[in-house]
Amino acid sequence: MSASPTSPERHAWTSQQCGDTWITGLDHARVVLTVHGGHGPGCNAYLAALGRASSVCQ
Ligand SMILES: [Zn+2]
Repeated sequence: MSASPTSPERHAWTSQQCGDTWITGLDHARVVLTVHGGHGPGCNAYLAALGRASSVCQ
């Protein structure tokens, strides 16, 4: 689809820290959900991505 694995933006997404809650869009949310899935309730990045994804998919 619109994924471009080599883009600098995507690299920033995959290296995002658990405490960083910035989500730029649905593609970003998908990456964060993949990278931070399983981190548990202390992972704010995952929670932020989850909120973004559910707000878009309605
Ligand atoms: Zn995390």
